[in-house]
Amino acid sequence: MLTKPSKSDPDRPYTIYASTVFNSRSLAFDKDVSIRIDPKIGCIISVASTPPNLGLVQAPDFDLRGYTILPGFVDSHAHVLVHAFSETPAIYQEKDESLTERILRAGNNAKAGLKAGFTTYRDLGTEGAFNADIGIRDAISRGIIPGPRLFVATEALASTGGYEIRQENKIGGTFVPRLSDPCDGVDGVKSAVRRRIGSGADVIKFYAEYRRRTLRFPQPTWTGSIPIKYPPYSTGKMNDNLNNPLNPPSTLFDQDEMNAIVIEAKRAKAPVAAHASSPEAVIMASNAGVTSIEHGAMPFDESLEAMKKNDTIFVPTLCVADLELGSDKENLKKVLAHTKKAHDMGIRLATGGDTGESPHGENVRELELFLEAGIPLEHTLRAATLGGWEACGGDWCGYRFGWVGEGWQADLVVLEGDPREDKGALRRVDMVIKDGNVVVDRGRIVE
Ligand SMILES: [Zn+2]
Repeated sequence: MLTKPSKSDPDRPYTIYASTVFNSRSLAFDKDVSIRIDPKIGCIISVASTPPNLGLVQAPDFDLRGYTILPGFVDSHAHVLVHAFSETPAIYQEKDESLTERILRAGNNAKAGLKAGFTTYRDLGTEGAFNADIGIRDAISRGIIPGPRLFVATEALASTGGYEIRQENKIGGTFVPRLSDPCDGVDGVKSAVRRRIGSGADVIKFYAEYRRRTLRFPQPTWTGSIPIKYPPYSTGKMNDNLNNPLNPPSTLFDQDEMNAIVIEAKRAKAPVAAHASSPEAVIMASNAGVTSIEHGAMPFDESLEAMKKNDTIFVPTLCVADLELGSDKENLKKVLAHTKKAHDMGIRLATGGDTGESPHGENVRELELFLEAGIPLEHTLRAATLGGWEACGGDWCGYRFGWVGEGWQADLVVLEGDPREDKGALRRVDMVIKDGNVVVDRGRIVE
């Protein structure tokens, strides 16, 4: 059924004839649409109604009637340099895997994301691989390796002692890679933002809070290490998965520092993503004017009220809750209900699975969790397309993607089936077009 573009002239504009196209602005599934694409500039050059009873389609055009076409998906919270924690826990990836292995794995991760229909990743930190995301981004942009378009954070910002590999033996200054660019005080955080921007970061990520007291009651981490015998708070209701009192999250920056991070990033026209879960951290970061709150899992209404007031994008990373809460279905339900409430209040949402922690290629799981939370399909798809573009900074990012419209990037996902009838269709990616080029065909990467 598919007619491929002519290989002899890959730069020639072509037309896609489609029976169903998701419109991420009107939230309608538009019928009978023709999309004209110029692969030379990577953009859609026109979108028009297609007359029914279309004649024989000529190469290099595509007859994709019978499929569902969506704008390319955006994973708004991914880590291309991290692979599934179920394979290797974070600390060993950061501490023990060679940088070479991590970068080679990133190439595989990028391919897996692309095959799942994700044409853009907002990549929020290398987790100990310094600025390696910059080179990966550029290798993809230059066409050296296939992958989603990356918007990268390089190293996240955290205050001293806030986000780092903790180990009990530091005798002799045992060296481990740093997990963040540590910075303190208004002047210090401004310098850090300038370092990130100067290194080539697209987006600034900072830890508004973190569970930084691991070494107060250290957990056994090596063969033969002994657990604390009588840890406090270990009985009954005091030990809640959403707020572990042994090592609770606490804010890493004061309000002036958070404000300074946002002011400095905005001067460079870079969006800001803040890691925050407790209401205290969510409210401080949201009031500072960040673009998005990442995680925000603690289900408190005052967090939602702050995001609503400040028009902050919420990236709830439901995959993290799904993985980390495991069999604790009661708390998972609370987290899903919190996201649904955010949707009902009109808070802008974007889907990001914290992919890396969960496997690349399974990115669509975040959309499935949005649906499980009760967010309607059309709004979930908006969060996975246009919502992602907004999280990348909108026009600040230099591209327009996440909507099938004239002048927008020609990023398309072609699904076998219709997700309105069968949610499983979201996983049946037949073809992916990125920047007007077919990058996945019949579920396989086009090398
Ligand atoms: Zn993350």
